[in-house]
Amino acid sequence: MIPWLKKYPSKRCTAVNRRSGLRCKNPKAFGCKTCRYHGARKIQTSVNAPNYIHGENTKEALLERRRGLRELYKLYLLGLMCGMYKKGSRLRGRPPKG
Ligand SMILES: [Zn+2]
Repeated sequence: MIPWLKKYPSKRCTAVNRRSGLRCKNPKAFGCKTCRYHGARKIQTSVNAPNYIHGENTKEALLERRRGLRELYKLYLLGLMCGMYKKGSRLRGRPPKG
């Protein structure tokens, strides 16, 4: 058994072995009563996922950031056409796709 499970018995899997009558020694899966071996199938995604911290790198956030960069690049190209920038000045990194 994992040492920290002795400290927190409520976080232990509730499945019981039919033959021996002993309780499973694995920790519960996130948001479930049992461990992953005993049928925990509750898959958490996006905001409910256990590793979700700030949402900075979610698919939606990445798409929004990419859209913003594309807009900035368009403005930069407009500025180049209007002569706002010196010849040879460049943005950092490669231009965004699309
Ligand atoms: Zn179990």
